[in-house]
Amino acid sequence: MSLGNTSQPSVKHCVDNVNARYIHGRPEPELVPSRYALKVGAIDVLVVSDGVLSLPGAMLGHNVDPAVRAAWLEDMFLPPDVLEWALNVVLVRSGGRTILIDAGMGVEFPDLPRVGRLVQRLEAAGIDLASVTDVVLTHLHMDHCGGLLVDGVRDRLRPDLRVHLAAAEAEFWASPDFSRVSMPPGFPDALRRAAKRFLNEYRSQMRPFETEYEVAPGVLVRRTGGHTPGHSVVRLASGSDRLTFAGDAVFQVGFEHPDWYNGFEHDPEEAARVRVRLLRELAANRESLVATHLSFPSVCHVAVAGDVFRWVPGPWEY
Ligand SMILES: [Zn+2]
Repeated sequence: MSLGNTSQPSVKHCVDNVNARYIHGRPEPELVPSRYALKVGAIDVLVVSDGVLSLPGAMLGHNVDPAVRAAWLEDMFLPPDVLEWALNVVLVRSGGRTILIDAGMGVEFPDLPRVGRLVQRLEAAGIDLASVTDVVLTHLHMDHCGGLLVDGVRDRLRPDLRVHLAAAEAEFWASPDFSRVSMPPGFPDALRRAAKRFLNEYRSQMRPFETEYEVAPGVLVRRTGGHTPGHSVVRLASGSDRLTFAGDAVFQVGFEHPDWYNGFEHDPEEAARVRVRLLRELAANRESLVATHLSFPSVCHVAVAGDVFRWVPGPWEY
């Protein structure tokens, strides 16, 4: 049972709460690692951080007792009521195509000052927006498509850019159902606005798919549903190497508590089923996992731990 949208503190409260912990100020954003390169067989993969979101702790499991939630945050060395969420984007090169998978937050929510760094960090990595041939969107929440709505970005992208998105996702945002979510104040309206604007501005470049689509050799986007009706994951495969970008199908808490309903999930029961199915598969075939909101650079493996799962961070390769 959702606790409803009004039960959550504002995002500004969360940001202030986290900032208060840094009595000497935060480090300069560009002094922290913001990109991480790896190979999946012949496929080049770059994980890029768009920044960090500070959100109400209730978002990580709105169907559980607040005391249980607070204890989990405490165990993770986080403040009891604020969730610090990484925001990862992936750039992939395969078969002569350069594919951006999700695009970060942009400036879609003004009270989140530590996100929206994607373009500047791509530039710092020597990647020109005009070199991107394809964009894959796991779904149309603003923390995944907002970077493409920043002033001037569309003009810098090539006119023949292909934007891949599940047809069910575009349909959903014509009349989205927010009855099962649990979000901070202002979020539902901002999400509706961003998705609508995205569909208007990029409609002519969209290449909607039904179930799955091979964007480039070994780069397969596949619809899962759950989080949103058109939510999709991207499976990379080259030689014997495998990596899945899970978007918002898996969160940090989802290994230990795959049945906790995330506040952004529009169909939480189905989202939990999708999560368990995917985590089981990744544990069985031992492939790598990257997800939007796992701690940067987020490259990890999944192990089975009794009835639930265990997060196994990958070794830092440099
Ligand atoms: Zn997200």
